[in-house]
Amino acid sequence: MNAIDPAIHIAAANIRLDGVSKSYGSVSIIPKLDVEFRAGEFTVVLGPSGCGKSTLMQMIAGLERVSGGKIVIGDREVQDLEPRERGCAMVFQNYALYPHMTVFDNIAYSLKIAGLTKGERRVRVDVVAKMLGLTDYLDRKPGQLSGGQRQRVAIGRAIVREPAVLLFDEPLSNLDAQLRHDTRIELADLHKRIGATTVFVTHDQVEAMTLADRILILNKGEVEQYDTPKAIYHRPASIFVARFIGSPPMNILPVTGDGSVLRLSDGQPVADCDLKGKFQLGIRPEDVLFDTAGNASAVKAHVRYREDLGSHSILAADLSGTTVRITTPFGSQAPDRNVLLLTCPLLKLHLFDAVTGKAIPGAFAATTKVMK
Ligand code: ADP
Ligand code: MG
Repeated sequence: MNAIDPAIHIAAANIRLDGVSKSYGSVSIIPKLDVEFRAGEFTVVLGPSGCGKSTLMQMIAGLERVSGGKIVIGDREVQDLEPRERGCAMVFQNYALYPHMTVFDNIAYSLKIAGLTKGERRVRVDVVAKMLGLTDYLDRKPGQLSGGQRQRVAIGRAIVREPAVLLFDEPLSNLDAQLRHDTRIELADLHKRIGATTVFVTHDQVEAMTLADRILILNKGEVEQYDTPKAIYHRPASIFVARFIGSPPMNILPVTGDGSVLRLSDGQPVADCDLKGKFQLGIRPEDVLFDTAGNASAVKAHVRYREDLGSHSILAADLSGTTVRITTPFGSQAPDRNVLLLTCPLLKLHLFDAVTGKAIPGAFAATTKVMK
């Protein structure tokens, strides 16, 4: 393939991690990771600070060595190769542009190192600059650009070499909210056009939900779930995932099953279920309904506070000793009293093992009653 052309897709490669581990001294950061980032997909790696996201990216890029296991990009084992031999380009949070060089030279730098002629460099940089809206800024120095423009230069520098793999480590976290939003849209658009295998680290769930073909959720260096944004949201594999995605997070309530019904800790029956033992029940704030039909099986909760956010309100209520949050769309009628009667469609309930926190799929499937 020649110069990057918006009409041409980069030859994407899949990235396979085969039992990859990383320790610093005796401290294990990533115990053993088996995962495949599919060719041409946009994968978002999401997880709390310190869970090993940057370490993972640096091992793929070759800036950190693996302690064990293999990294395969396309059909090549790369864990022992130099960074420049791996065909990856990386954009960091603190993208350091060369301050004394123009935008053109910043973008063209790697091409110069690679030995391309001036003419070839000009062609490639022009295409990339056009793609990123930087054509009018090529003669400026980084100091004369806005944060968003500098960010785009860093992306331009990464893609100009036509990498098979693009690695982003929290590239948007230094930008203000509006710019973050705009750059996010541009990145999604860019990915559609060039189609490189992209791995994008963030701790921002909105970025994850809107950009990803697939989300990898990491917890202490281990995979909690790896699935599409929809599946992650609607079928979280664990309480960790359920609470990580969604705002406000999913409500989690301790319940006990006697083989026919699940009860809250204060004894109120909350759902028919044939399981026995202690569990955690999950309900998303938007799935809680106010009972208006006088449903005898609705549960009683006491209002603690309301927050009006304009587009919607959040109502916090005490339900059997747990504060649950309920989102109500703007203009909808939240009952104006202190004792609420709440219900939830059975199919919107999630059940988790009380000890492991793992989801119990189909816990309510056998039950036919829809409300309780
Ligand atoms: P994340 O990017 O998810 O916030 P990192 O991958 O940066 O997390 O770090 C994961 C863990 O590894 C953290 O506990 C961090 O303190 C530790 N760590 C990172 N780099 C080093 C290092 N060079 N030496 C020792 N520990 C490190
Ligand atoms: Mg990091």
